[in-house]
Amino acid sequence: MEEESKGFKTLSDIFKALGFPVRVEILKILERNPLRYSELMKTVRLDRFSDAGKFAYHLSKLMENGLVEYKPESKIYVITPLGKDVLNHAMNLFESLRRKENVLLVRRTDSSIELFDRKRIEECLVREAGMDQDTAETIALEIEERLYSLGVKYLTAPLIREYVNAVLLEKKMENYRHRLTRLGLPVHDVSELISVKRGLDDVVNEAGEEVLRQYAFLVKLPRELGDAHLSGMVNINHLASFMFKPEEPVNSLESLSLVKTYSYIPFSSGQSPLKQVAWRIVEAFSSSSMHANSLLVNTDDLELVEEFLKSIAISQRKWNVILSAKLESVVFEILRSLAEIAEKTVLPNFSLSLVGYDKKVSEEGFANTLTKFLNAGGALILAGSQNSCPTHHLTVLNEDADNYVRTGVLSSVSLNLPRILENASLNEDAFWENLGEIVSRIVEALELKRESLRSIIEDRKLLPLSCRINGETYFLVEKGCSIIELTGLYDASCRLVGSQDASASFPEAEKIVKKVNELAHKSSKRENRVLVSLVSHEEAVQRFGGTRVNVFPRNMTFEEWFRFESRLKSLTPESNIIHLQGLEELGSLRKAGRASFLMYSPKTMCASCGRIYPASEEKCFCGSYLRTAF
Ligand SMILES: [Zn+2]
Repeated sequence: MEEESKGFKTLSDIFKALGFPVRVEILKILERNPLRYSELMKTVRLDRFSDAGKFAYHLSKLMENGLVEYKPESKIYVITPLGKDVLNHAMNLFESLRRKENVLLVRRTDSSIELFDRKRIEECLVREAGMDQDTAETIALEIEERLYSLGVKYLTAPLIREYVNAVLLEKKMENYRHRLTRLGLPVHDVSELISVKRGLDDVVNEAGEEVLRQYAFLVKLPRELGDAHLSGMVNINHLASFMFKPEEPVNSLESLSLVKTYSYIPFSSGQSPLKQVAWRIVEAFSSSSMHANSLLVNTDDLELVEEFLKSIAISQRKWNVILSAKLESVVFEILRSLAEIAEKTVLPNFSLSLVGYDKKVSEEGFANTLTKFLNAGGALILAGSQNSCPTHHLTVLNEDADNYVRTGVLSSVSLNLPRILENASLNEDAFWENLGEIVSRIVEALELKRESLRSIIEDRKLLPLSCRINGETYFLVEKGCSIIELTGLYDASCRLVGSQDASASFPEAEKIVKKVNELAHKSSKRENRVLVSLVSHEEAVQRFGGTRVNVFPRNMTFEEWFRFESRLKSLTPESNIIHLQGLEELGSLRKAGRASFLMYSPKTMCASCGRIYPASEEKCFCGSYLRTAF
């Protein structure tokens, strides 16, 4: 009985000792950190002069009851184990009382509603932001108190996240906040998208891509390169899926037949399974690349090739069909069926690469069918060398095309040379220095992408490229290459020499090409091939405000420009395509040499009258703005 009453006495003393909010506050502060007298007083927000007596009294009550202890050797006050225990119980009690009178409800993103629970914030800080348990506990507690003090009854999970981020920002815990950021679009932007876009699918795609772009910036890209992209000095082409998909795989009809994902389709006897499912294969491969696919035609099975040409003509993604000189016997038939398709539809996503047919192009029948194809908006690449593999990216890989089957272009980044020069205040030394820095950052990002892609494909996340064939994946990441584009080369060289005369700037342009080549090869590992290209993605050109590599200067003749362009491009032999307006221009070049040419003028089809007209026109001849393809 005596024992019991003694215990009760202590308990009641402790309750009394906690009878003032400031004492609880002192315990909470000391639980986080032992402090000196003056520091403690300041942290409790008591005035050094006017509150001195009050503070001394409260502190002495806590010490009398064994909740706080003074350590004379280091002159600090610490919370005792009993103090910790008491505080813990008091807080639990406090919390359950508060819950009873002040209910805080949270609506989660899955639409369920539940009671606010501080532990969830704590867990999230540990799991998502990688914070240590103690810090997470302290922060979660503080956030809870602040949320209750707002006096609201109803919160949403995203709002709590924003609130947590605001508190982290306030505490200068930027690195944690970074990882907790929510990716997405403001309501206003989504409404805007819905009103601007033609179809709802476009809205979904665009919104999804925006989230992935933000993800790439926050999580995947080296920070300096992300900054360089945002400032417009470089353009990371196809940023949304930069880390997840290859830019342009090269396939052959033979390699496509190795993929067995469509084997449950009932085939009729005597027909090639490939022919029966051509459209499905084209569709499956279309969505597995970021930009385009190449298809090397290495069979003389005319029916099979025709089936693929038709499937490609109606597909949503870009395809480049490569016909090599080995096919001489059937190439004319293939072109004729292509011209037939071109009469009925527009071909904005179709490009045709003829390897080793430069002499044949001047034959009348041949040229006529090609012109039909060009008029329907298809892109035509004439590759001079027999040993080259043009891809839709407009790069000619200077090896046998077969070497690129089941691999291809992994990614590309475009340099905005005039902008880099401006950023160096037109100072030449600073320009070279910045250029070197940027190129090595790009090479770094390209290697990160290679790694990322390798694991995505190994993990079977990208069908059909992930399919296993004799123990290997269909798409071979190791053999692929990446590209650095030199956008605005002439513009930058003219500004470097301070002359509008294009021919005066030639040596400077040559120097830039050589330098970037050298930098790219120096900073990349030998097996990770990085090529330099003088042809830029439309996306980059538009973003850089129209600075183009291939606009030929007004103050020189076409032949002069052609000579220079050829010389420049021989410095980057893997990328030696020259942009022409049409076949007639090709005819005017007496000695085309070993250069490769691209002819392309995009067309669109009117959805009202069915006429085909240049995509650059705002509306059809009939006055309609509606298009079937864009
Ligand atoms: Zn029309």
